[in-house]
Amino acid sequence: MDNIEVLIDEDTLQLRIKQLAKQISSDYKGKDLTVICILKGAMYFFADLTRRLDLNVNIDFMRLSSYEGENSTGKVNIKLDVENSIKGKDVLIVEDIIDSGRSMEFLFDYLSLKDPNSIKLCVLLDKPERRIVNVNADYVGFTIPNRFVIGYGLDLDEMYRNTPQINCVTDDLVTLEKDVKNLKKQIEKK
Ligand code: IMP
Ligand code: MG
Repeated sequence: MDNIEVLIDEDTLQLRIKQLAKQISSDYKGKDLTVICILKGAMYFFADLTRRLDLNVNIDFMRLSSYEGENSTGKVNIKLDVENSIKGKDVLIVEDIIDSGRSMEFLFDYLSLKDPNSIKLCVLLDKPERRIVNVNADYVGFTIPNRFVIGYGLDLDEMYRNTPQINCVTDDLVTLEKDVKNLKKQIEKK
């Protein structure tokens, strides 16, 4: 595909994931944690994050769908549900990105009915400019501008997931350079 440029390189991603893992390990210190990976987009993030958690962790998987091409259809479906009961558990949802917020709003409501002790949300990327419903994550890797991103799990029509960095489709390298600088600043502050 033409016009693919790196938005977040591998080193920057891994450094931020280490920071997140440290923070989550400290917040849940002494507790067992059920971590739910939202397939397929969160798969690499989930794998890199969970192996750095200094906690007793139970892992589970869900798959939702709402997207076609670059646009959300607005209606969320569960394609795969959790295998283990989450009743009374401390649950951390691990998702690739919050865009409109519809998927995570739906998921919070759905999982709350299963009576967990707590539910928190960890997302690698947050695109606040695109929000339609009011959902916020407890842990955010990077707040990104309104760009369609692919790689490190994220797809465009099920392609381009398998890269160690996050790319975006662009024909404007000047604004991309600015975006990359701003993203690196976020990590320095932490
Ligand atoms: P939301 O329900 O609109 O918040 O959408 C969340 C889902 O949309 C994510 O789990 C992704 O699968 C998909 N998504 C949103 N933005 C992007 C993007 O920039 N690239 C790839 N997938 C995206
Ligand atoms: Mg997804």
